[in-house]
Amino acid sequence: MRKKRDTIVACATPPGRGGVAVVRVSGDDVPAIGRALLGELPPPRHARFTCWSDENGALIDAGIVLYFVAPQSYTGEHTLELHGHGGDIPVEALIQRIVKLGARRARPGEFTERAFLNDKIDLTQAEAIADLINATTHRAAQAALRSMQGEFSAQVNAARAALTGLRVYVEAAIDFPEEEIDFLGSQELRERLEDVQSRLRNVLRGAEEGAILSRGLTVAIAGRPNAGKSTLMNALAGRDVAIVTDVPGTTRDLLREHVQVNGVAVELVDTAGLRESTDDPIEAEGMRRAREAIATADHLLFLVDAKADPKARSFEEERARLPEGVPVTLVYNKVDLLRRSLSSTPGGNGAPPSFPVSAVTGAGLAELKRHIAAKAGAEHNGGEFSARARHVEALRRAKQHLDAAAGLLGGKQAELAAFELRQAQGALGEVVGDVTSDELLGRIFSSFCIGK
Ligand code: GDP
Repeated sequence: MRKKRDTIVACATPPGRGGVAVVRVSGDDVPAIGRALLGELPPPRHARFTCWSDENGALIDAGIVLYFVAPQSYTGEHTLELHGHGGDIPVEALIQRIVKLGARRARPGEFTERAFLNDKIDLTQAEAIADLINATTHRAAQAALRSMQGEFSAQVNAARAALTGLRVYVEAAIDFPEEEIDFLGSQELRERLEDVQSRLRNVLRGAEEGAILSRGLTVAIAGRPNAGKSTLMNALAGRDVAIVTDVPGTTRDLLREHVQVNGVAVELVDTAGLRESTDDPIEAEGMRRAREAIATADHLLFLVDAKADPKARSFEEERARLPEGVPVTLVYNKVDLLRRSLSSTPGGNGAPPSFPVSAVTGAGLAELKRHIAAKAGAEHNGGEFSARARHVEALRRAKQHLDAAAGLLGGKQAELAAFELRQAQGALGEVVGDVTSDELLGRIFSSFCIGK
């Protein structure tokens, strides 16, 4: 039985002037409020043109009314939508009237929260709705749509189901020690374990890419003063955001710019030029901020002046001071000044991939942009889903527990492995927002003959 929840009201469209404003009411009292407001309710899911008035009978507005009967509504509750004229005065008057009739003003996201609480959607789907609304690129919107329609949840749930199957096996080994079957050494156990591991790896990779796609990739641009960082920033942004001069040390603070690189949202951070030391306290502070920005970036473009520094010595000198976890791409800039032509290199064996460009002529920028977009997982060409740091964190935790369980199973330590598997399942349950141990019990009883 669903417990009774109070009735909420809010304007679902942005405030200010507009063609139409939609006021949404959801909850058990909707039929009574609707009748008091409109005289009678329209038939469910039928648009009806009508008027609404305040408690003294003074007209507030006229518009379309839609009535949805629980559970066939967005929230899963009785819902009324009033489509009136888009102006703050009629909207506020209508909301006040509905509040007087017994509703209360909704908190942010409360309609979607109710959709989740009423099992219309799971948690990742609820989050994807917000991600769709907040998407700044077409690709991020597409990814959010896929999560909203349950693609991400389906993958997590498939991994959970496989994990439940594995746990059934391991728990059986604990519960039926007298059984002849050597559960822990069985081929089936190994296969089940590998299956869960590979599912989890895939969904984690997808979630990591989805999280970057949703929030955008942060790319720091670093290098020696005058390497052309500000010029590259402007070229990638497609407009002048950074000041370009041939006076070294012009960029002293961080400059951030949100751009789209091949459909991926990217935050570019132009940093103050890095050099070994400086006596100028402002430049020193700029360098400190630059290092901080580099440490928190998803990716680093290290720029070298291809003419002045053809062997990228500046990068080699700086390398030890760069954070280990941030992948680097070496960008040889100013290739227009070279007589010979340079090619990009894929990197490997400790060397970063490298790209020759001219921030001034635009040569090589298309290839560099493709490379940056690929860093955000955009090479997938569709099929990705949106995700959040929360999901990635929970999935990583699930993977750690699973890996720990794998080690313990290898050592035939069933009880400890079972504990780790339970933790893994809990972490996966967090992703979609429901953790239930009844689920496991149900599977154990249905797949094993206890009475045998
Ligand atoms: P930053 O200190 O690294 O930000 O360097 P700037 O972007 O301010 O550029 C320093 C100088 O190099 C300026 O005079 C730019 O016009 C010049 N510059 C930057 N990129 C290129 C390039 O690709 N080719 C050439 N020829 N000059 C460039």
